[in-house]
Amino acid sequence: MAKQKPIMNVVFVGHVDAGKSTTIGRLMYDTGKLPEQELQKLKAEAQKHGKAGFEFAYVMDKFKEERERGVTIDLSYQKILTQKFEVTIIDAPGHKDFVKNMITGASQADCAFLVVAAKSGVEPQTKEHLWLLKTMGVGQLHVIINKMDDVGYKEERFNEVKADVTNELKAVGYKAEDVNFLAVSSINGDNVAKKSDKMAWYKGPTVVEDFDNFKEPEKPTTLPLRMPIQDVYEITGIGTVPVGKIETGIMKVGQKIIVLPGRSGKGVLGEVRTVEAHHEQLPQGEAGDNVGVNLRGIGKKDVARGDVICDAAKPASIAEEFVAKIAVINHPTVIAKGYTPVFHVHTAQVPCQFVELIEKYDPKTGEVAQKNPDFIKNGDVAKVRIKPIGNLVLEKQGDNPHMARFAIRDAGATVAAGVCIELTAKKI
Ligand code: GDP
Repeated sequence: MAKQKPIMNVVFVGHVDAGKSTTIGRLMYDTGKLPEQELQKLKAEAQKHGKAGFEFAYVMDKFKEERERGVTIDLSYQKILTQKFEVTIIDAPGHKDFVKNMITGASQADCAFLVVAAKSGVEPQTKEHLWLLKTMGVGQLHVIINKMDDVGYKEERFNEVKADVTNELKAVGYKAEDVNFLAVSSINGDNVAKKSDKMAWYKGPTVVEDFDNFKEPEKPTTLPLRMPIQDVYEITGIGTVPVGKIETGIMKVGQKIIVLPGRSGKGVLGEVRTVEAHHEQLPQGEAGDNVGVNLRGIGKKDVARGDVICDAAKPASIAEEFVAKIAVINHPTVIAKGYTPVFHVHTAQVPCQFVELIEKYDPKTGEVAQKNPDFIKNGDVAKVRIKPIGNLVLEKQGDNPHMARFAIRDAGATVAAGVCIELTAKKI
């Protein structure tokens, strides 16, 4: 068997209507993943719903629907083979709860494309998504300036938007010199998979070519096994199959594991019976792999989304309390002691209470601006003490950065994002 190419998980983010779905749909079509007759069907569907021109955007919805019908158990979203990588597009940026999708998606992403519409330029969600990506630890980012057809394919406008986005990148801490800017019109297929003949001034890569400009993600295989469960399936002939991405470590057939917190809150012990990816049984899975696993000693009632499969010899902790650095992104008023929103950590969602606002930083210098502030608000970065209401598997950044990041959501919006830096474990 030919050696498998390394997997690159890519997420597409950006303001609503910037053209994320259209770009992904176009990618699928131009790389032959979407047959002509399927596109015609989607076109008819789009017209029927009064959304002519949305057929490419419908592609992602269609994949999502298939996934929801449970046709396959692997988390193979959609794959594109490039020279270097097996690219997995991990997000289905549905039109509804995009930020939420982004959080669950971004926590798995190795790299991201930020999509900005050429005419609109930087928009509120452009900034919000940049903050989220940075906080969620997505280190590699490139920018697609889309809808170039709307601005007559002009280099001048491209450069203006590029300069504006560059300022935003610097503000959140991305190194602008590492960021490629692509001139694209997704709807027409310019510079998606095919080189455009309308922008002679543009010397950069197409989207497909640019996938290979990302660095191969380093696999955190030396950290202990952590696999947050995304879903639990019941498969005839196999039994209970939790699926998810192995965040860190290696999972071997025969290995002793513990699922935390599990239904009991005290962990459930088991042993790895099978590891499967893309309908193939493997002797082991490792960090970065999306797998389905069958565990001896663990049934459907024992585990759920949000639990984490850990190496039994080196389990993660359930947090009694933790200290985090957070960035407040989008709160309607102010955050004070006692506030209890929902924390989204890996695949878990747990309400947590702010018990202390320790200090607030000057976002420009990173220096302490105020000790024990009464409240924090949008734009603030602060150190806070948090108490989970319920069982939350979490680790501090120094131990395992992949298990330390979270987003804070309230009333359908992303209020803040952060990372755990100190932790007191619950005794179980
Ligand atoms: P998303 O919300 O970022 O996923 O955006 P969509 O992909 O759903 O696109 C939003 C709208 O922009 C739709 O009407 C698309 O047809 C349109 N659109 C997407 N890409 C382009 C483009 O390259 N040029 C133009 N003119 N319109 C586009």
